[in-house]
Amino acid sequence: MQRLNTRRIFLRRLAAAIGAVTVGEAPLAFAGAKNSIRDVRLERTDKSLRVVFDLAGSAKHKLFHLSNPSRVVLDFPGTTLPAGKRLAIEPSPLVKGLRYGKRNKDDLRVVLDLDQQMQTSTWVRRSGSRYQLIVEFDQPPVVSAAAPAKRKPVKTVEKKRPKKLRDLVIAIDAGHGGKDPGALGKRGTHEKKVVLQVARRLAKLLEREPGYKPVLIRNSDVFLPLRERINKARAAKADLFISIHADASPNPKAQGSSVYVLSENGASSEAARFLAQQENAVDLIGGVSLDNRDQMLASVLLDLSQRHTIETSQKAAQQLLAELNKVGKVHSPRVEKAAFVVLKSPDVPSVLVETAFISNPREEKRLRTREHQQKLARSMVKGIKKYFAEHAPDDSLVARMRTQEHVIQRGDTLSGIAHQYRVPVDHLRSVNGLASDKLLVGKKLKIPVAET
Ligand SMILES: [Zn+2]
Repeated sequence: MQRLNTRRIFLRRLAAAIGAVTVGEAPLAFAGAKNSIRDVRLERTDKSLRVVFDLAGSAKHKLFHLSNPSRVVLDFPGTTLPAGKRLAIEPSPLVKGLRYGKRNKDDLRVVLDLDQQMQTSTWVRRSGSRYQLIVEFDQPPVVSAAAPAKRKPVKTVEKKRPKKLRDLVIAIDAGHGGKDPGALGKRGTHEKKVVLQVARRLAKLLEREPGYKPVLIRNSDVFLPLRERINKARAAKADLFISIHADASPNPKAQGSSVYVLSENGASSEAARFLAQQENAVDLIGGVSLDNRDQMLASVLLDLSQRHTIETSQKAAQQLLAELNKVGKVHSPRVEKAAFVVLKSPDVPSVLVETAFISNPREEKRLRTREHQQKLARSMVKGIKKYFAEHAPDDSLVARMRTQEHVIQRGDTLSGIAHQYRVPVDHLRSVNGLASDKLLVGKKLKIPVAET
């Protein structure tokens, strides 16, 4: 399977949504009414394999496919389960199981774990306020669900295993370098030098974090044009780009860290520039080829892409700023916006961190110390991790380390919950630091996302 980052997946879906319908939506029966899933089951015949949902209120849903491992995801808006109800299906060789959990505030997400990618079709039957949503799988011809006894040789099974989950790539860009020293402190400190030190410390710390792969855009005192920095990050398929700098101001009292993302103005001029380069544009919209008549679509996609990147960057920037705030003063309590060239990747979320004011003698002194550099690096690691705890792409190891929450209901047992989410009871105990299996109604349990 091709490696996709969130941006590309987003664009693929967007392109698919424009070009063809991949999202099934049945009409909502009572707008605003609470829906519930009464039951779910797997139905098998010689010819078909279906998962049937019994719903009350509405059959509104969104369906999409995810790969590595293969899954079908159904999001039911405003949907609950009847009290005490647990959803489960009898596992089959092709549809291996079902997981579910709350999403947003009152949506329900159901995930069907598949043995391999299969085409699906859905339809809805209605009787009064009762609905049946039928998800039918087009079975691959080789395997018959009716004859699961035919075991394949181990080698084939081995081949089908999902690929190793990928690391998140963090591009770390030490600002300036070579003939460009950056800002200069009163003690003669060169910005290019201290920011490289901080960048290296950040890389070293990230290397120790499972699921993260730091890439230093420069690791020596070299001059790199700004566009080349962007290109390097894109070539490394970075999930996040962080440019590290030290600020300067004529006012020697100016102090504190700032975090920047690209401003809208900077973005729109950049979109035009990128579109002018056909090659970039094709790559950007997820391999959808462009001829002249598609230019309009391309510009819409690119615009959305850039907007999406800025939104994503903003979220990452906020986490970074919050962590930097714990280390020392922040210059501005808000994420700043500017048209810095280095932030202009249309498809890599990018932030620029001004670690401190090198023009402030006190901050200059601190910036040179190992302790402060390490503090800055550590706070950036925390910010990065907090951001990805919620936004890691699905094919990443970090996404798999994510946990979900289960609010303990009356009648819940630890083994029951373990069964429901298909995680070992031991994991539940250790993740939640439980000394006993006694559960308190209303308390939240962390549920590790099931491995497949
Ligand atoms: Zn700088």
